[in-house]
Amino acid sequence: MRLIIRPNDRYPHLGLDRRPLAIACGEGWLGILHAFFTEADKVMAVGGSFTVLEVMEEKGVLHMHYAIAQIAPDARRAIDDACRLAAARSFHICEVCGRRGRLHTFGDLRKVVCSEHADGELGKGVPFEDPLNALDPYFPDVDPFIAARPTVTEFDAAPIIEGWLIEEDSEGGRRPWLYGWFFSEPVTRDGEHGHTSPIVQMDDMVPPRWVRTDTRLYRLGMCYPPAEREIRYWAQKLSRRPVPYGERPGGSDDMEAMLAFLRSSGRLRSTKIDRLEQAYREEQGHVNEVGKVRAT
Ligand SMILES: [Zn+2]
Repeated sequence: MRLIIRPNDRYPHLGLDRRPLAIACGEGWLGILHAFFTEADKVMAVGGSFTVLEVMEEKGVLHMHYAIAQIAPDARRAIDDACRLAAARSFHICEVCGRRGRLHTFGDLRKVVCSEHADGELGKGVPFEDPLNALDPYFPDVDPFIAARPTVTEFDAAPIIEGWLIEEDSEGGRRPWLYGWFFSEPVTRDGEHGHTSPIVQMDDMVPPRWVRTDTRLYRLGMCYPPAEREIRYWAQKLSRRPVPYGERPGGSDDMEAMLAFLRSSGRLRSTKIDRLEQAYREEQGHVNEVGKVRAT
């Protein structure tokens, strides 16, 4: 599979902004690449030139080739270390989905996959038993980047957050957390709105399917654009009942009916509802615009 990364403002010191970067590996490794580029970007902030020549999956694991010039030896070493770490991590992360994985053989092919993706379009994979990287010992269980990633079994057993929203603490500097409607959660009643403890790590896939917080792992359900979500939130809250499992927060997809309900409830100021409605219309206009661009 071929991915395109548009470096935009994410890695301003890597000189990648001239053209999109084509990457020959599965999107399950996006998090590994992001961690590497972030580290390289930090090192390159002092100057010098960095050119990515190739990023690819080869014999099942991640390979990166790049050229660096005009930098101090210790800066070069830091980037090479980050590259080795990225390769070591790729032995333990499913290239398809980003959950915990291990190297498997599929006939002549090798792939790092999770237990779910070990049986897929390539056939049934056999776990690779030989030592992985004996010359460069690496312990995945003490690398928080790997340890936070769910196994398939843990993922399947995790509670769900529907209609989730990331909340950032703009002043206090605390780590972000999530709001949403919880299901199968040990503390919160099914269908109640609540928030998580701070986020440890979140799935890099788009849309993300899991999040690890200080207390536990959650699966992520639907998410809505901000104004739509807020209308759903108020419609649900004013109905004074939890969300039944399988139902959308707010009761349906009829946003006009929800807005009418908010107006008839008399519980919110009409200027607030006007603002929400206007934000929702703008949001929809934007969604349609993006849809059109994608369709052409
Ligand atoms: Zn997988």
